[in-house]
Amino acid sequence: MRMRATTAKIYIENFRHNLAAVRSRISRTARMCVAVKADAYGHGAVRCAREAVGCGADVLAVATVDEGVQLREAGIDVPVLVLSLCQPEEMDSLVRCDLTPLVFDAEYIACVAGACRRSGKTDFHVHLAVDTGMGRIGCAPDDAPVLAEAIANSGVLALGGMCTHFAVADSLADDDVSYTRMQFDRFLRAAEAVRRAGIHPGICHCANSAATLLYPDMHLDMCRPGIIVYGYYPGSLSEECCRASGCRFSLLPVMALVTKVAAVRRVSAGTSVSYGRTWTASAETDIAVLPVGYGDGMLRRLNENGALDVYIDGRPYPVRGRICMDQCLVELGSDSGVQRWSEAVVFGPKNSGAARSAQDVADEIGTIPYEVTCGISKRVPRVFVE
Ligand SMILES: *Cc1c(COP(=O)(O)O)cnc(C)c1O
Repeated sequence: MRMRATTAKIYIENFRHNLAAVRSRISRTARMCVAVKADAYGHGAVRCAREAVGCGADVLAVATVDEGVQLREAGIDVPVLVLSLCQPEEMDSLVRCDLTPLVFDAEYIACVAGACRRSGKTDFHVHLAVDTGMGRIGCAPDDAPVLAEAIANSGVLALGGMCTHFAVADSLADDDVSYTRMQFDRFLRAAEAVRRAGIHPGICHCANSAATLLYPDMHLDMCRPGIIVYGYYPGSLSEECCRASGCRFSLLPVMALVTKVAAVRRVSAGTSVSYGRTWTASAETDIAVLPVGYGDGMLRRLNENGALDVYIDGRPYPVRGRICMDQCLVELGSDSGVQRWSEAVVFGPKNSGAARSAQDVADEIGTIPYEVTCGISKRVPRVFVE
């Protein structure tokens, strides 16, 4: 058991709420593949993967072979998709752990087939990725049939599915909606061409969180939600615009960044605090020392304009001066009653006592909640709250 005052509390109840809401959004006949890459967006991959499977995830998605191996070593045995490309030296682990790779060119297909032959595996499922407009990985739609044949003729591989990934499904601007529809059409045509070549395309999937919420007609055989199960809307979407598309639920943020007051110090008027002396007390006040800083993922930029609050006993108190690597300082005023060891929350869902979630933090500094929760560093223990 790791012990530290600063923890990322993971509200399992909120996570289950989101999973159930998303599951109910997807038709019964379609699968739900929950993205648990990047340590479940910073929430703790193994525990989140188990909860996801318990709440109806049929498949899990990771980015790397290492992440997939971690799930297998924890005894998780549902299909696991590896969304990013792996190196030749990772192929043997990929095959041994029965992780499902995305493939999209002949060289890579041969590489996976080679690993299967070395380990004596046959009928090893791969998914063919089609680039319909993301410009990242995937084959040209016209090349899909030839590659499907290469898979089918390899002797050891089987086409388990076909997929594509949307670039702007999280935007409701007219141009972006047309672009998403164009990507979807290209994908359908590629899958159809594979079928016409006499090969079953397997599980067809393209919907990330945004498309899961906004485009039920694009769910096909499986959805791949990520950010929404952790409680945040993708891109510029909000609860209101999703409601307009028929989603009758709200998402609950899952992670809180929590710490405990390490000391309360009385300072007199004219005292400056922290590096650079960017803030000076104008009157006598108590300063709380919090053992959390940018080394934990509490970005220095967050208090650049001096407007960041933390919540102690549900009340906001301003962070003063620069955030340090391991500590930051909070002004309590002269009679707050805040005691040493009191809990302080930087961000979190309402049930954590914070009035600011990772979404609000992201909005304040011009990023996305994905980056905020993934950025909570490894020295912060994840504590799962039932
Ligand atoms: C990360 C990822 C997802 C999930 O994206 P969200 O926006 O978090 O829903 C789905 N598909 C692929 C290929 C991804 O890389």
